Amino acid sequence: MNSNKKGLNTICTHVGELEDKQHRGAISPLYMSTSYAYEDVDVKRYPRYFNTPNQEGLCKKVAALEHAESALIFGSGMAAVSTALLAFLNAGDHVVLQQTLYGGTYNLINEEFTKFGIEYSFTDGWQADAFEAQIKENTKVIYIETPSNPLLTITDLEAIAKIAKKHGLVTMIDNTFASPVNQNPIDFGIDIVIHSATKYMGGHSDICAGAVASTTEYMDRIFQLAKNFGGSLSDYTVWLLERSIKTMGIRVRAQNENALAMAHFLDGLIQIEKVYYPGLPSHPEHELAKKQMKGFGGMLSFELNSDLDASLFQKALSLIKPSMSLAGVESTVISPTKTSHALMSAEVRAEQGIADGLIRFSVGIEEVEDLKQDILQALESIKQ
Ligand code: PLP
Repeated sequence: MNSNKKGLNTICTHVGELEDKQHRGAISPLYMSTSYAYEDVDVKRYPRYFNTPNQEGLCKKVAALEHAESALIFGSGMAAVSTALLAFLNAGDHVVLQQTLYGGTYNLINEEFTKFGIEYSFTDGWQADAFEAQIKENTKVIYIETPSNPLLTITDLEAIAKIAKKHGLVTMIDNTFASPVNQNPIDFGIDIVIHSATKYMGGHSDICAGAVASTTEYMDRIFQLAKNFGGSLSDYTVWLLERSIKTMGIRVRAQNENALAMAHFLDGLIQIEKVYYPGLPSHPEHELAKKQMKGFGGMLSFELNSDLDASLFQKALSLIKPSMSLAGVESTVISPTKTSHALMSAEVRAEQGIADGLIRFSVGIEEVEDLKQDILQALESIKQ
């Protein structure tokens, strides 16, 4: 918690309490070797147990970034999501989940939870009262995602935390889209923060990782399950992730700036039907986003006019590449209907407002004028 007193870029660039005189800069995989000579063998020092020295250092950095007491890292965002949820849910318990969620989380709940005897309800929307309406006697957890994937809806963190406290529930958030640079949910009373570190923490579209941050008490509980489930992060990826986080502050702030500029630009084009971005004053929860976010993030979504073909448009882009992932330094686009939300039925997607022609745009750190030119040339080339 001490490192919370330091500024964001200092937490990102320094290894924090792990940094010693011999190991300035990135921690090499050699340092993390389990053949490292301990005076006494500590039974906790086992790679899968998340306790090799570099893993500890990375966990401390993530905790500091999220204003948490403690954190753990995982082999993927989904390992983080599943381990955190299952640490607080037993057979017979019930969880309330936000309707608009990352498709993989939705699939985890829909395809696996019944096997564990865990009950679940999805809300009718993302507003706080939609969560309270679903709470039952056996509810134990409220799970939210804000900004959500792919429609960038904003849920009121403080209001959710208040409802949860009233009912004695644990709150969890998927904070991936915001990143710790733009949003620290623990400051608003949320208990557990989850990240797909594959995204902004990694930032270069080349690793798969996850993270969870919370109080020491809650993290101990998650750690017990993490050991049994075995979703740990490989030592080499720990090294890469730690290096990547060094530039997260400057990367994400540049992405915030570019995304805001691109959202205004797209909003002003006659060929674009709708832009979803919390930084636009026209976004229904813009004021709320201003209250709980420090920047509006690098993700936005948009729909072309119905007479334009979204697939042709994506193919016509030349600088902005189609990509399954997001949050890298390079700008990418994807159709959620064909990727992250493909396993959802067309009816559920329609209920959630995910149109077939929706394009999710992960804005990188390129020169914004080049991004604008790419959009314009693609629109021109598909003109009928
Ligand atoms: N949460 C969100 C918001 C995501 O976008 C993703 C992946 O796209 C995940 C979780 C899952 O992360 P991973 O692919 O690292 O398992």
